Amino acid sequence: MHTLYDESLYVNTPVQSYWEHTAGGPDGASTPLKGSVDVDVAVIGGGYTGLSTALHLARDHHIDTCVLESGHMGWGASGRNGGFGCIPASKLGVEDLVSRYGLDETRRFFAAQLDGLQLIRDLCNGEGIDCDLVGDGNLEVAHRPSRLRDLVRYADELTRYFGIPTRVLDRAEFGELGFECAEQCGGIHMAAGFGLHPLKFARGLADSARRHGAALYPHSEVESWQRQGNVHVLTARDGRVKAERVVLATNGYLREGLHDGFDRRLLPAISNIVTTRPLSREELAAHRWNTPNPICNTRN
Ligand SMILES: Cc1cc2nc3c(=O)[nH]c(=O)nc-3n(C[C@H](O)[C@H](O)[C@H](O)COP(=O)(O)OP(=O)(O)OC[C@H]3O[C@@H](n4cnc5c(N)ncnc54)[C@H](O)[C@@H]3O)c2cc1C
Repeated sequence: MHTLYDESLYVNTPVQSYWEHTAGGPDGASTPLKGSVDVDVAVIGGGYTGLSTALHLARDHHIDTCVLESGHMGWGASGRNGGFGCIPASKLGVEDLVSRYGLDETRRFFAAQLDGLQLIRDLCNGEGIDCDLVGDGNLEVAHRPSRLRDLVRYADELTRYFGIPTRVLDRAEFGELGFECAEQCGGIHMAAGFGLHPLKFARGLADSARRHGAALYPHSEVESWQRQGNVHVLTARDGRVKAERVVLATNGYLREGLHDGFDRRLLPAISNIVTTRPLSREELAAHRWNTPNPICNTRN
């Protein structure tokens, strides 16, 4: 018999996340830091920021780089996010952005987002990263009829100001694309973005960084950070790294006490992604859902 939640909740045993469960086994290619290591650049944090930094430094600039990560590579938000490669990166609408920052700055903001999406595609293609990248854009669904009017205006602005192709879909067209439920009142398609498997992408970045010469140390939390003249000394449980420069790529996970400059300045925000067990046809019908498109957003 199916329980409402995962079986583990009833026996109190931690389980892997959906992404860990489907990433194809643990990443065992690197081992924790042991002993003393000298590098040009030490990166603290093995998520997209840290791994991409290490990859680009090693590949494009031949800089001797290492990454120190508390958990496994991609342990933080990079290995457990929603997998949406999407726009926009702000809750403010286009008109609000333009009136606050001006059209030129807003155009630069959107261009940077599109560049970011293209960088992911280029990295996947150029480095052979297989992370189940799918789709040709994002769908945004109107969950009330009045929201469709806003979305139509938004689609027009995206095309007019930033040249992003968009398409308005009525309820039936949206349903035919694979997303039919009681709260679907049509939506828009924006031809920018895709979906991917976030942990596979993080591991792909790690493999590429390693292949180009970066040293990766999982399960090596940096516990102290000191200066000796011009050199930074980072200490983990079983080793230490001396580096000319340090890149802090710890997101909101940085502990207080590691560096004065960051104490009391970071406030982690919590957000969640929920997956269900596979739903039966009867359950889907009861909720009037078909298979949801994996790249589908709602905004309030
Ligand atoms: C639930 C959720 C859903 C999201 N959905 C999306 C989405 O759909 N699309 C999207 O674009 N973005 C999404 N995001 C945001 C995205 O995941 C993050 O912006 C991105 O992963 C940040 O990457 P990062 O490398 O900067 O940080 P992280 O991936 O968090 O990496 C920071 C790493 O630093 C390590 N660390 C911290 N302190 C130390 C230390 N002292 N020593 C060693 N290591 C340390 C941590 O262990 C961690 O692994 C989502 C985030 C969350 C939480």
